[in-house]
Amino acid sequence: MDSADNKKEGAQKTAADNNQNRYDFIIVGQGLAGSVLAYTLMQQNQTVLVIDEEAKTSSSKVAAGLCNPVVFKRLTKSWMIDEVLPIAKSFYRDQEKLLDNQFYFDVPLYKLFVDEKEQQFWKQKSNEPHLFDWIDNKVEHSFDKKHLTYPFGAAKTLQSGFLKTASWLESFKEYLKKKEAYLSTKFDHNKIELRDNSVVWNSYTAKKIIFCEGYQTTKNPYFDWLPFKITKGEVLTVKFKNLELKNAINKGAFVLPYDGNYKLGATYNWDELDQIPTGEGKEQLLKRAARFINDEIEIIEHKAGVRPTVSDRRPLLGVHPEHKQLAVFNGLGTKGVMLAPYFANKMVSLILENEELPIEVNINRFTNTK
Ligand SMILES: Cc1cc2nc3c(=O)[nH]c(=O)nc-3n(C[C@H](O)[C@H](O)[C@H](O)COP(=O)(O)OP(=O)(O)OC[C@H]3O[C@@H](n4cnc5c(N)ncnc54)[C@H](O)[C@@H]3O)c2cc1C
Repeated sequence: MDSADNKKEGAQKTAADNNQNRYDFIIVGQGLAGSVLAYTLMQQNQTVLVIDEEAKTSSSKVAAGLCNPVVFKRLTKSWMIDEVLPIAKSFYRDQEKLLDNQFYFDVPLYKLFVDEKEQQFWKQKSNEPHLFDWIDNKVEHSFDKKHLTYPFGAAKTLQSGFLKTASWLESFKEYLKKKEAYLSTKFDHNKIELRDNSVVWNSYTAKKIIFCEGYQTTKNPYFDWLPFKITKGEVLTVKFKNLELKNAINKGAFVLPYDGNYKLGATYNWDELDQIPTGEGKEQLLKRAARFINDEIEIIEHKAGVRPTVSDRRPLLGVHPEHKQLAVFNGLGTKGVMLAPYFANKMVSLILENEELPIEVNINRFTNTK
């Protein structure tokens, strides 16, 4: 190489290889997935750069953040609840210490029975030993009967809670900024340069780029083959004229006490896939609420987001089948709060120790469809 080439090489390197712009991992997306993964990697002494375009809304920003340990319809335990919930609670408790604020709240979640049959089914299920830790067998009638219709009583789930997702994400972003680990910009996939053992994006070099783009991974040219079945959801923040609740309740819609108001949600729409709140979404939620709430409802806020749900309802983790410098951590679906910390550990074990992923979350379950 002559000296002119040397200079040229040197000039290219100053941008790409300057230590300031060199990270172990670049993470695209600062939603729940990207944030939980970033911190899990930092705990392993890895350097990260988290990139987010800071859109006004996202699935994580609108989520009520509920952790319901049971599936109400069938009264079964939520998938992997015994494993994921303790890890999730411990992760968010650690964040509270780190960021000196409370984000995760334990709150009983009451199912208001629609009929005798549903109440009987709950009682029967609450006697099954594998549900002892998750649903209470007592049927209660202690709520405000004037403003709530529930002639068949209510019973509570045990160990439920919620994460103030948007507040935690804001706080965690400030932490990343202080660590010089955050960049506010749109990530352009066309600017990816794959090298032998690294990847360069703009002036940033890393061992891998990990995509945590939520539903927008459907537009990522490297991972657009993943079988997302994304779902739009809408949530209202409301005030009641008289009704006061300390606990969360559910009867075809959930109501969650939240910062002096209540979250009322959520809708599921598989056809209209944008993040714009709609009149139909609002009407649907108010109609569902009117079936059990007899009170004036004032709407404070109305938001919509798109959940990164997957055809087989399991997360999407793994390294690109051809480009080992690119990976994905996604598909948290309707339960990101509970699932993210446990599966971030799995993702970190994969990329740092080459530990195999559980088959049901590994993207290689779909590589033959690519
Ligand atoms: C109405 C509603 C209610 C919900 N309620 C709950 C609930 O009660 N409990 C629960 O656990 N889950 C709930 N969820 C689901 C939960 O929101 C998701 O599981 C989780 O937030 C997904 O997180 P994510 O980080 O994968 O995606 P997202 O939150 O979508 O984050 C992706 C991030 O990537 C960024 N991004 C994408 N592409 C680019 C790019 N090219 N350049 C830069 N940045 C980019 C986006 O700006 C965004 O910040 C709800 C979802 C909705 C819509």
